[in-house]
Amino acid sequence: MDQPTLQHDKLYIGGEWRRGRGAEITSNFPADGSLNAHLPGASLEDVDLAIERAQDAAADPAWRHLLPHERASYLYRIADGIAQSADRISQVQSRDTGKTLTETRALAMSAAGTFRYMAATLETMEDALTPSRGNFLTMSVYEPLGVTAGITPWNSPIASDAQKVAPALAAGNAILLKPSSWSPLVCLELARVIEAAGLPKGLFSTLPGAGSIVGERLVTHPAIRKVSFTGGTETGRDIARKAADKLMPVSLELGGKSPAIVFADADLDVACAGVMFGIFSSTGQSCIAGSRLFVERSIYDAFVAKLVAATKRLHVGHPFEAATQVAPLIRPKHRDEVEGHVKRARDDGGVILTGGERPAGVDYAGGTYYLPTIIAGLDNTASLCRDEVFGPVLAVLPFDDEADLIRQCNDNSYGLACGIYTGDFPKAWRVARAIDTGTVWINTYKQFSISTPFGGTKDSGLGREKGRDGIRAWMAQKSLYCDLSQAPHPWAKKSL
Ligand code: NAD
Repeated sequence: MDQPTLQHDKLYIGGEWRRGRGAEITSNFPADGSLNAHLPGASLEDVDLAIERAQDAAADPAWRHLLPHERASYLYRIADGIAQSADRISQVQSRDTGKTLTETRALAMSAAGTFRYMAATLETMEDALTPSRGNFLTMSVYEPLGVTAGITPWNSPIASDAQKVAPALAAGNAILLKPSSWSPLVCLELARVIEAAGLPKGLFSTLPGAGSIVGERLVTHPAIRKVSFTGGTETGRDIARKAADKLMPVSLELGGKSPAIVFADADLDVACAGVMFGIFSSTGQSCIAGSRLFVERSIYDAFVAKLVAATKRLHVGHPFEAATQVAPLIRPKHRDEVEGHVKRARDDGGVILTGGERPAGVDYAGGTYYLPTIIAGLDNTASLCRDEVFGPVLAVLPFDDEADLIRQCNDNSYGLACGIYTGDFPKAWRVARAIDTGTVWINTYKQFSISTPFGGTKDSGLGREKGRDGIRAWMAQKSLYCDLSQAPHPWAKKSL
């Protein structure tokens, strides 16, 4: 496959392509460590310039008062632009993150779908005429917030970027996007598409750079009226504290340690495929990874043996090979962290059933590969069952009955997702309602729809994205009272 030209030496700031004045960011291809690009990142001056331009653009009546169907037309054009550039976006993102082309193409198409859905939703949104308690016309209307920011992680950038940019623009705001320094390139492809769609200048800027500098400035700057963040729980907590100081709304999509549950009455092929997909696709670098597997004790040995055998057959390989199911991890530093988790699990008495090491052979030399790993023999209180690994590492545990299962699943600080495999629908329903989490899949895993809200409970986050209300989350609600009597207020009448 031809390598795409990764000529990314400028950032899109305030509607213009400018050289960033911040620290240089290096992007390498995780499959072999080769250089993708040196990109000058954004400086604090760049952030301030982007905010200034965004304030002007957001306040301009030409944007703020644009009718919904006219605003929607920009989003439809962006959706079409992403779909038309999906191959290029996918290649850039695979080079930047090491994800398979199959996956990054799906992420690009999902981003296009997000813009299209938000455009369609915008066209059908209604304000409310509320029941009046007097001779008034009373209304509740939604208005843009003004200048907003999206801060995203490296694992699925184009999709998580779209999840912030599309509803923010649909709501009539300006949005400044700060991607992770580990995946700085694909947001520039999004900027090209947005520019080509003719979005008024200043409404969108992209500011790759360090979280502690660029991200921090976006969160604390008085002009920013909302931050939507996707990333780690500790970063999310820090952002929430700073947002509290300026009483700014935040949306936080954070980490997870999600349980997958296999009952004895499940279709074991369906369960085995779902469990493997849930933890090993994206090489486990997924917030919703099903990383704690609970198997009913009566089938524990047989199911785990089946799962281990199938896992050994997964194709670990180059992101550009069509057969690849498990691609490299994003960076050597991240692989070191994954290895640290596995070492701790071993020290805690965990037994490695498969994986637990890097693959050997010339095909893997120079790449940040790690084998899909299954570890048994740990208790739900072990660090491997508590901490997010964000890699292809699965802990397997037996359970005895529903009460024992629900207690173990909920005994965790996270609450992002859960997968249940069973042939008994009433049981699936009962267990799904008892698990403290944001999303439950039954006989499947990691399925998404932009029309269905997404978010977590407990340490997994605050607020929901997507769905019809996804746009409202980027708006301010205003109440309007209009007097219909056209007479002076009785309280003051005598004094007139
Ligand atoms: P991270 O928290 O390190 O970084 C996320 C983003 O925040 C990056 O752009 C980073 O530069 C920025 N950032 C870092 N410090 C900041 C600060 N002090 N102020 C403002 N911004 C700051 O996370 P990561 O390593 O990039 O991504 C992995 C994490 O993201 C995992 O925990 C994963 O579970 C989570 N995640 C959650 C979801 C979800 O929807 N719940 C989706 C994907 C990833």
